[in-house]
Amino acid sequence: MTKALGLFSGGLDSILATAIIREQGISVVVVNFKTPVFGPEKAIKSAQLLNIPLKIVDITSPFLEILRNPEHGYGSFMNPCIDCHILMLQEAGKIMEGEGFDFIFTGEVLGQRPMSQNKGTLKLIARKSGYHAHLLRPLSAKLLPETIPEKMGQVDRDSLLDISGRSRKRQMALAQRLGISEYPTPSGGCLLTDPGFSRRLKDLLQYLVNVDNQDIELLKWGRHLRLDKDTKLIIGRNKKENDAIHGLSKPQDQVLKTLNVPGPAVLIPCGTHLQNQKLAATICASYSDALEGTPVRVMVTQNHISTIISTKAVDKRSFKNLLI
Ligand code: SF4
Repeated sequence: MTKALGLFSGGLDSILATAIIREQGISVVVVNFKTPVFGPEKAIKSAQLLNIPLKIVDITSPFLEILRNPEHGYGSFMNPCIDCHILMLQEAGKIMEGEGFDFIFTGEVLGQRPMSQNKGTLKLIARKSGYHAHLLRPLSAKLLPETIPEKMGQVDRDSLLDISGRSRKRQMALAQRLGISEYPTPSGGCLLTDPGFSRRLKDLLQYLVNVDNQDIELLKWGRHLRLDKDTKLIIGRNKKENDAIHGLSKPQDQVLKTLNVPGPAVLIPCGTHLQNQKLAATICASYSDALEGTPVRVMVTQNHISTIISTKAVDKRSFKNLLI
């Protein structure tokens, strides 16, 4: 029996591609790749609805490498979509070879995204992945060169589709024909297309050489302020963010907390010198419930040792230029 491995985001196009291949009597397993900036939640839900086996593979390490220096550049924000697609296909190709799948397929649609899914880019991505001959895009297959599984008769090319462009009409009609009524909305999923997150990530990559998972996780929480090239401040905006920031702190970080008035959790990754600590304490006090001009005591803790800085709350707007 022919076996196919599908790249599966859990969005409508990947659901349809999977259903079309499965309709041909081919045994299908799908794979979702995860990193700290995109996760498998949508894929898990859709795979359950389709009752299809799902593999989840963590590609954080190679992804962080391309994130810093993508060969094919970034999209509108910090999203290196072309390199990301290539990486995912390379990883899928390794699984195909290692586990005896006959080919890989994706839900990509020709022309759906002007930059990353035009004919030239689809060709480039396929070629650079090293698996172009075994890569099928069922939704647009009739508009693309024939692949090995089609040539070998493992897949019936006539039953594949010729969808192109940004309209979703044909996908909706196909979903109806296939009896697929539940599917997620097309938006969201990857934090790299969020302007605020992208700004913080750009700053992180500019100032930190060895970025790890935790550094990226911290970008998801709070306000971020840069004091100097070595010093960044993260300020929780509510209880959930304060808890998350505390949970992600390491012993060598400095954690600031107001003592005589409710205030935010403030984190300085890897800590800083006393002058910056004083500025951070004033920022912490200014984002607390204290009125402007009120004395505030701020506790700074690092490696389980705490010191107290006395300061005053000032107008928060004076720190606007430090916001990342
Ligand atoms: S949007 Fe994010 S997950 Fe999607 S291809 Fe681009 S970088 Fe990769």
